[in-house]
Amino acid sequence: MAALRPAALFPLFAKVTTLPGIGPRLGKLVTRIAGESVAGLLWHLPSALVDRRFSPKVGDAPPGKVATLIVEVLAHGPPPSKHSRAPYRVTCGDDTGKITLVFFHADGDYLERTLPVGEKRVISGKIELFDGKRQMTHPDHIGPLDKLDDIKRVEPVYPLTEGLSPKVLEKAIRAAVAKAPELPEWLDPAYQKRQGWQGWRAALGAAHAPASEADLSPLHPARARLAFDELLANQLTLGLVRAKARKRRGRSISGDGLLRAKAKAALSYTLTGAQTRALAEIFEDMASDNRMLRLLQGDVGSGKTVVALMAMLAAIEAGTQCALMAPTEILALQHFETLRPLAAAACVRIEVLTSRVKGAARAALIEDIAQGRVQITVGTHALIQKDVEFQDLGLAVVDEQHRFGVHQRLELAAKAAGADMLVMTATPIPRTLALTAYGDMDLSKLDEKPPGRMPVDTRLVSQERLDECIEGVERAIKKGARVYWVCPLVEESEVIDLAAAEERFLGLTMTLGEDAVALIHGKMKAADKDAAMERFSTGAAQVLVATTVIEVGVDVPEATVMIIEHAERFGLAQLHQLRGRIGRGGKSGTCLLMYAAPLTETAKARLSILRDTDDGFLIAEEDLRLRGSGEVLGTRQSGLPEFKLADIAVHGELVAAARDDAKLIIARDPELETERGQALRTLLYLFEQDEAVRTLRSG
Ligand code: ADP
Ligand code: MG
Repeated sequence: MAALRPAALFPLFAKVTTLPGIGPRLGKLVTRIAGESVAGLLWHLPSALVDRRFSPKVGDAPPGKVATLIVEVLAHGPPPSKHSRAPYRVTCGDDTGKITLVFFHADGDYLERTLPVGEKRVISGKIELFDGKRQMTHPDHIGPLDKLDDIKRVEPVYPLTEGLSPKVLEKAIRAAVAKAPELPEWLDPAYQKRQGWQGWRAALGAAHAPASEADLSPLHPARARLAFDELLANQLTLGLVRAKARKRRGRSISGDGLLRAKAKAALSYTLTGAQTRALAEIFEDMASDNRMLRLLQGDVGSGKTVVALMAMLAAIEAGTQCALMAPTEILALQHFETLRPLAAAACVRIEVLTSRVKGAARAALIEDIAQGRVQITVGTHALIQKDVEFQDLGLAVVDEQHRFGVHQRLELAAKAAGADMLVMTATPIPRTLALTAYGDMDLSKLDEKPPGRMPVDTRLVSQERLDECIEGVERAIKKGARVYWVCPLVEESEVIDLAAAEERFLGLTMTLGEDAVALIHGKMKAADKDAAMERFSTGAAQVLVATTVIEVGVDVPEATVMIIEHAERFGLAQLHQLRGRIGRGGKSGTCLLMYAAPLTETAKARLSILRDTDDGFLIAEEDLRLRGSGEVLGTRQSGLPEFKLADIAVHGELVAAARDDAKLIIARDPELETERGQALRTLLYLFEQDEAVRTLRSG
């Protein structure tokens, strides 16, 4: 059943190059800002405005203010020679005074055409005072008199990207907004009325046409409505996924405890109180005949893996199979290695399935899984390939859940059919954010760390002191330390990331020797990754230079030092995760957060939080609070949903309202068949939640 986007939305999902003035070259730039389709531009709201309505006589135009003037062009003053650095000046004026227009690197022909001597022109820009005379450098607008009304208005100012001019972008956005159709109202009428919100199209128009600073506030009704729409689409999607997942009845799974007892006996430690409590909640869910959908949230190092193992063993005792899905190959392999001896102690067969298992080996493994001969399959996305069928999957565990999108969660939910699901995350998500990412899954928390954790001494160091850091690393490895050196994510380009990491790798090998340093990054071949990890975990190499591939799950207890370059570019939660890699082996650790000076106040405050606390929840709350003040960093990398219109830090109440609304909708109209249901389908398409529509019977 193919999901069909309503025809009314077609113009919005055309390529940005269908907009006036946007060819292939500018299309690339616009795509960088707003994605490939016209719809993306609708969500690109103004960040400021320029009021050009002020239109005094030249003699009354006050310096420092933006004004729109009607002037006569009096004289042209080109620079004395072609190579002169002097600007091109055009003198204009009216009966009250004169003003000089100043152009650097000007095209004289062009200026003669647009500003012919003796004619009247409308100009708009900031009035400056130079040598006691009025001037305007590079007017924002120059036009004939009939353009006066076009120019004399409040102009929205949009966040730009390099190479894109404000005028071009504004024109494209105006055209995009003009393409927005009237759509059937999807809001609950009573709620809409209480909020005093306009219809979608009107709100969109208003959000793009601010008349005053107040209109730029995220709490302004037009913007709040659009934010709510986005949140409602998000909550509805999560709700539908959940409803689908629950549709199949679960089954009661409870084992005799024998396998669990064997594995427990093989552990070198006893479970923490938090682990025991979480397990009790999990076992209770599994034993009930409702399907389990539980989120296990625990800070880095809180010991989620063993909780997953115990849950899986319980499912195996009851005669079913289990799957453990991890976001990266490294992590899948690591889980496999960790769990193998414990599975062996319980006489349970465990296998690993990633994209590198190929050919005959893969075929044989898939056959064994299908025949129920493998009890635990650890893997990556490879686990949700079409040809992987379980004979009887009782429990699916998803680790580091935040790395997977709703899309993949849907696929696993489908594969797992009636199986219980346990998803694990180390991201200490603030409550409002948890709602947007997980809807209302049941929650177990590991709020206590295993004993023996050592504090990590965290320091902020300017990037200028790089040489000192390298010397420090040299001293540390002489004393036998193992060091992670993390290179930052630059923009979205992995290519640049790699260049940075490779350069640092070369630099470090020159100082520390070739054998001492290993390099690992996401683009490496699997075998090379293994080799690098192996050299580092055995101690053959003492320094591991890495991009953020080591962020999740990697466990080398001997590592005690971590250097993170350009820490200001990371999200706090991500830095916290990274830091969680050290201080594990009973030895205290050191973490140097390097930053490029100068740091803004907010950036400094953010990094200081990490220095001052090791409490993941506190860090996440603070991060959100500070990010609310404008510095948006790190959501992209965190894998949490990225909102274009909603800002979790200010729209917390709307999140809760959207959640309640979505719940009610799904309870009353689970297949979105009523009139409002149909409108809500349009909303889902509008926010590209086609996947969610596909879960519906008549999707
Ligand atoms: P995470 O929650 O980050 O996935 P892991 O499951 O990788 O954490 O556990 C981190 C480390 O703590 C592992 O080396 C694991 O063996 C150890 N560990 C887990 N539970 C306990 C416990 N109850 N007592 C001592 N060590 C534990
Ligand atoms: Mg883990």
